[in-house]
Amino acid sequence: MKQYLLGVINMETDKYEHILHVEKPNKYKCIGCGDELILRKGEKLFQNFVHKNLVSCGYFKTPTQDQLLSDAKMFLQRLIETNLVTIYKQCSICKFKNRVDLPVFDETTSISMNYGKGKNFMDLVYLDSNNNIICGFEVYDGEPKKIRKTQYPYYQINMLELIYRITRSFATNKIELNCNFKIICASCEQYV
Ligand SMILES: [Zn+2]
Ligand SMILES: [Zn+2]
Repeated sequence: MKQYLLGVINMETDKYEHILHVEKPNKYKCIGCGDELILRKGEKLFQNFVHKNLVSCGYFKTPTQDQLLSDAKMFLQRLIETNLVTIYKQCSICKFKNRVDLPVFDETTSISMNYGKGKNFMDLVYLDSNNNIICGFEVYDGEPKKIRKTQYPYYQINMLELIYRITRSFATNKIELNCNFKIICASCEQYV
């Protein structure tokens, strides 16, 4: 069975925490049903949660597609808010991964989820102190969505990288994500 790496809500801060970042003394509740959870340190690499009460909730084992997508968005928001993510764009010629410069998140900046409506909808936007959009994030599942014209740069992130194939850098401890959009890097530019 596929094991997804999903998050929980910290009952004290009311914020999302990913299973990779949870701490034993804290109290957590389930995103799917709101029931309190018990953290079990597994024999394997991963710790996992069980519901405190006997509830028929499949959030961790059989999540719906909507729950997976929403968990991935909450995780990405949390990663940006804690400065724990690095985004890369691959060069379509040399295949080298180029790091995207994201501003450092602090008390003046914020993230807004499910921003805007219709064709201006964006999964997450990164806002500066004047609520101007610095950049956006689109989380996709399966087939990437078509590139759109936006007033600001945005990055397209595969949901599976967030809930299943998480890559963590040993050097910086940051989660590494790849934007689906390719670039042509500075050294390859001279050949095109
Ligand atoms: Zn639940
Ligand atoms: Zn290149």
